[in-house]
Amino acid sequence: GADAVPQAAEDPLFGLMAAYRKDEDPKKVDLGIGAYRDNNAKPWVLPVVKQADELLRKDPNLNHEYLPIAGLPDFTSASQKLILGEDSPAIADKRAVSFQTISGTGAVHLGALFLAKFYNPPVSEAKTVHVSSPTWANHNQIFSNVQLPMKNYPYFSRETCSLDFDGMISSIQSAPTGSIILLHACAHNPTGVDPTQDQWKKIAEVMKEKHHFPFFDTAYQGFASGSLSKDGWAIRYFVEQGFELVIAQSYAKNFGLYGERAGCFHFVTSPSSIAQDTIARVGSQLAILQRSEISNPPAYGARIASMVLNDEKLFAQWEEDLRTMSGRIMEMRKALRSKLEEMGTPGTWNHITDQIGMFSFTGLNEEQVQKMKEKFHVYMTKNGRISMAGLNTNNVDYFAESMDSVVRE
Ligand code: PMP
Repeated sequence: GADAVPQAAEDPLFGLMAAYRKDEDPKKVDLGIGAYRDNNAKPWVLPVVKQADELLRKDPNLNHEYLPIAGLPDFTSASQKLILGEDSPAIADKRAVSFQTISGTGAVHLGALFLAKFYNPPVSEAKTVHVSSPTWANHNQIFSNVQLPMKNYPYFSRETCSLDFDGMISSIQSAPTGSIILLHACAHNPTGVDPTQDQWKKIAEVMKEKHHFPFFDTAYQGFASGSLSKDGWAIRYFVEQGFELVIAQSYAKNFGLYGERAGCFHFVTSPSSIAQDTIARVGSQLAILQRSEISNPPAYGARIASMVLNDEKLFAQWEEDLRTMSGRIMEMRKALRSKLEEMGTPGTWNHITDQIGMFSFTGLNEEQVQKMKEKFHVYMTKNGRISMAGLNTNNVDYFAESMDSVVRE
C-alpha cells in the first residue's frame, strides 16, 4: 500500500522561498526564484498585458468553451513567427507544427514524451538526451519521467565563470550518432552564460556531422538582450541549416504570465524530409499525446499573448516593456560589478556583466552561500546562482558588501 511510498526531497528552490518568508530581518534579500521584480522588489504586470487584459474583458463574444486540442490557432501561428522569424523558410514551406502547452514546462514535457515514443536513431544508445552541466533542474525530472536516459555535457567553467566551449564541443562530438542534444536558446539557466554566434555555428556544424537532434528550450526570448530577433538567433540559424528539431517555448518571463501557463511546442521537419505528409503525421501523434495528458490547453494566458503578438501597436508596446525589464537587469549587473570592483573584492567580476538574462552565477561556493544567508539574510541557491531581478537600487550595495565580506573570510 501507500505506506511504502518514500518521502521525496523538498524542491530546493521552494524550500529557499519558505525560509525567506520566515526571515523577519528587514534587510533580507530574495535572489532565489526566477521571476522579474521591479525596482521596489514587487512583481510587475507588464503595461501591455494590462492593456490586452482590458480589451479582452470588453469582448462581448468571449466565453469559456474549450480551446482546440492544439490550442488557440492565432496563438500558435504567431508563436511560430515569433521564434522562427516572420520569413522563416520552415513557415513558408509548412514544415512546422505547433501545439499550445502548459507554459515551457509543458512544452518540454510534450517534446520529451513524443521523442520517448517516436524518436528512432540509427543506434539505440543515441536515444539519450544530453543536457548541459548544469542545467535547469526540472529538465532531469521531465526526461526521466518519460524514461529517456540522460547524460551531461560540460558547459560551465568554474575557473573562468564562463563557457567551457572545448569541453562542450568534444562531448557533443563523442556522443553516439543521432543523439538528442538539449540546448538553451538564450540566457542559459542557471549560469547566464551563452555561446557566441561563432560558437553556435561550430555547435551546429558538429551536430550536423553527427546527425544529432536539437531540442531547443527557449524561456527568455526578448527578456535577455531586449531584442526578440537577437535572442531567437540560434534557433533561426539551426533551422536555416536544415535541421529537423523541436522547440519548447515559454511566455512566463517575457510576458510576465508565470501563473497563466502560456507556452508552445514546435516540431520543425528538415527541408530534405522525403515524405510529404511528415508534418501531418507528427501533428496527429502530438494530438493524441496532448489529449491524454491535458485534453485542452488553458485559454487566458494564450489569449493575452495572442492579442499582443497579432497587433502591431500592442507588439511595439511589448517590445518597450521587454526593454524595461532587460534594461533594469543590465543596470543591476553594472551596479553590482562596479561596487565589487570599487571595494577591491578579491577575484574578477567581469562575468557579472558578461552573463545575460535572469540569472548570474556569482562564483560563490556552497559554504559562502550558506554564510550569505546566515549572516546577511541573503537567499540564493546553493550553486551560487542569483536571480538578477531580485536586485534593485535599494539593495545592490548591501548585496555587494555581503559578498565582499564572505569572499574575504
Ligand atoms: N526552461 C528553462 C530553462 C527555464 O528557465 C524555465 C523557467 N524557469 C522554463 C523552461 C519553463 O518555465 P515555465 O514552465 O514557467 O514556462
